[in-house]
Amino acid sequence: MLSLLRSRRFAQRCPPKSKQLLTSYFFSTTSATDHRHGSKCSQPSPPPIQVLLTESAGRGVFATRNIESGELIHTARPMISHPSLSSIDRVCYFCLKNTPKGSDFEAQKVLFCSEECREQAKGFYEVEKEADWSAFVAHCQTRALKYPFLAKRLACMILSGITSANSLDILQPALLSPQMISQMEEELGLLKSALEASGITSKQLKFLTIEWYSGVLARIRINAFRIELAGGCSYEDLLASAALSVESEAAVGNAVYILPSFYNHDCDPNSHIVWVENVDARLKALRDIEAGEELRICYIDASMDRDARQNILSNGFGFECRCPRCLLND
Ligand SMILES: [Zn+2]
Ligand SMILES: [Zn+2]
Repeated sequence: MLSLLRSRRFAQRCPPKSKQLLTSYFFSTTSATDHRHGSKCSQPSPPPIQVLLTESAGRGVFATRNIESGELIHTARPMISHPSLSSIDRVCYFCLKNTPKGSDFEAQKVLFCSEECREQAKGFYEVEKEADWSAFVAHCQTRALKYPFLAKRLACMILSGITSANSLDILQPALLSPQMISQMEEELGLLKSALEASGITSKQLKFLTIEWYSGVLARIRINAFRIELAGGCSYEDLLASAALSVESEAAVGNAVYILPSFYNHDCDPNSHIVWVENVDARLKALRDIEAGEELRICYIDASMDRDARQNILSNGFGFECRCPRCLLND
């Protein structure tokens, strides 16, 4: 399995949906100016970006004004997130923030960092907690699969009515081989039977087809971000996470966002995405950016040499990188 900063396809061949649909995704984002103290604006100002079609790479994100190096361009809340199995006893089940185990952990086996997260998690947790997931978890654990947990959470969100079955359709899907799809049948069967046994009716589960499941996984596969928290930890937490990264993986979980998925890749990017204390993404400028310039992030470890980068981008994301750095053979 490739260890990728994120999994996403560069070439985006679908035209964007209607203008209205694209702008609706900005509701989950805020620009840096929203957080200024004493701001009298009642309406959050839109982030200084727009999503446009590029000539060769499908959709891209462009600056609508000059952006200074270090500026927070916008934040984004995930559409779906899930902790990694190795982090489940130390991070919030909703926002992935480091969270001490409370007294109710033994009973519930999940943690929430705040009442707000517990409240927001009701959108999937009310459905999820009624089912026995042991067979599904064991199946994924033995195969080191992490993405089915995002699909499971999305299915529970759909069943509780907070989102629709086609909510990820706007994202570019990966190409899946028939063999990959047939492997997904077993996961889907376990997901379905756990929900059925919890009393969900077959009418409610009608959306849970292999077409739906493989379509969701195809999108999660190249659009999910691996979440590594950059800060907000005590020294003890840092030591613990250093030990953990040796033992298992440093990521606290995975998440799918809409707007951040529209950023294209560059091996020498002008922007980057960071997570400070939880799953809320912060898109920041790495250098001065001019109005009209495309904002690009690096999907992989930029310190690798050209061949290694090309290899990962081609096998993991399905495109050949033709960024200025790659063209210079750097
Ligand atoms: Zn939380
Ligand atoms: Zn490149």
